Amino acid sequence: MRILVRLGLAVFVLAWIFGPYELRSAVPIWLPFLIALGLELNLFVAGLRPVQPTRPNRGPQAADRERYGYADDVEELVLVRDGDEELWIPYSGESDEEEEVSPLDLSPVAPEESDGRRLWPHLRRFATGLALVSALALLFWAVERNTGWNGLDGGTRAEAAARFSAEASRVAEKRVTIRCDEGGDYVGAVQHADGVGLVGGRLAYLTPERCLDLYRLAFADEVRFNRTARAIAVLAHEAWHLRGVSDEGTTECYAFQSGVGIGERLGLSRDTAERMMRRQLADNALQTNNAYRVPPDCRDGGRLDLRPNVETFP
Ligand SMILES: [Zn+2]
Repeated sequence: MRILVRLGLAVFVLAWIFGPYELRSAVPIWLPFLIALGLELNLFVAGLRPVQPTRPNRGPQAADRERYGYADDVEELVLVRDGDEELWIPYSGESDEEEEVSPLDLSPVAPEESDGRRLWPHLRRFATGLALVSALALLFWAVERNTGWNGLDGGTRAEAAARFSAEASRVAEKRVTIRCDEGGDYVGAVQHADGVGLVGGRLAYLTPERCLDLYRLAFADEVRFNRTARAIAVLAHEAWHLRGVSDEGTTECYAFQSGVGIGERLGLSRDTAERMMRRQLADNALQTNNAYRVPPDCRDGGRLDLRPNVETFP
């Protein structure tokens, strides 16, 4: 049980750091740490509690009784400890003298003593658990600090954000600002959103993951088809909100169309940018959240076609 919990936490943290983006967006990282800490604490407290089920077993086994000849005198045996050995000896509570008869210095097993003996291993295991959880948290912190969006220096991040703002301003048709939500205060795992922008406003936030994918495309020519496509679509989506569109489905439809131009300006070929946004449109139909699904007239020549006279869509 304990090993499974610890192994589970380790696997989860590694998967969270190196695994698919979907995991990051679905589960906040503090959750598995909290669960692991809770379970360690629970196991620790459970271990301290007096163990009830052992009480019926404290009497000698039926076979032992027969063997030593006390088969019928259930009440007359008492467990004593002689050094490391536990012995069942016949006991009669009537006479004090009988206790002195024993040639060995025997004393009844005190339950407090055995509880005291059990405390140390539990404390040790609990400390091991805490150390492991802390080590994983430290690893996570170190990796996050040195890779990803937060691993970039401040100047680079500012330059990248300025570039994203310029693209968003083009789509919004006014001067707007894109910020990357490094503190996770506005968007991200907890809010289940990749970006947030006030309808008709001048400021939108993107998650650091989306910012990193946009940065990789614009500054390092690194393209990962689906991730890059999603990041472009999110930037365009927030830009359309800033422009004044509130309906999520309509915003997505416009975003895919604007995304082609954004992708191209950030370094993609026209063909790749179109394929990416077409794929985003196709994936949109698989959306589980209906609010984000594009309306039926999001098609070539439809009401939401931004360029009705152009054949390609988006
Ligand atoms: Zn939206």
